[in-house]
Amino acid sequence: MTVLSIRMIGDPVLRTPAAPVKTVDNSTAELIADMFETMDAVAGIGLAAPQVGVSRRIFTFDVVGERGVVINPELTLLGERSFTAREPEHGAAEGENLLREGCLSVADIYAPVTRAQEVLLTGTDADGSAVRLEATGLLAACFQHEVDHLDGRLFVDRLTGADKVAAARALRSREYGQAIDQTLGSRKSSHSSFFAS
Ligand code: ZN
Repeated sequence: MTVLSIRMIGDPVLRTPAAPVKTVDNSTAELIADMFETMDAVAGIGLAAPQVGVSRRIFTFDVVGERGVVINPELTLLGERSFTAREPEHGAAEGENLLREGCLSVADIYAPVTRAQEVLLTGTDADGSAVRLEATGLLAACFQHEVDHLDGRLFVDRLTGADKVAAARALRSREYGQAIDQTLGSRKSSHSSFFAS
């Protein structure tokens, strides 16, 4: 197995809707094994195939004991309520009210994102078995974040207000290339405890 290099914002593969997986062959199994190893190496809670340069609809996840891979995921947002991390009265459970999203492909930006509180995820696993997972809270946010990756979207696209302004400013700053370099360098020696996927 191999730890793959993670593509960073600005790379066109992150903005390309990924293609459905038609057959799960040995190369797919190898990719999935490498994605797990890569996700673990950077202590991520999720990793989508485009983040390692492969434009196919696959993601891995590892969120508080829930670990797996989903191929060709379909997401249904359950209920109409959504929450932002700043508005725990909108349904965020205890402990989730400080949730700020980050992304392994976006250096140095962490901000709350409005997400559906509860989702149903379907698809298949590496053996071709059906996956059907209901998720809430952090796991639900992770699933939405990963499916966004497969659609060519990044969490910074979903920021609003002051967070959107601050992120846009950071991304176009002259120092942002250095921030990416530092992030890639620090991954070799340390792990982040932020929600990053
Ligand atoms: Zn991400």
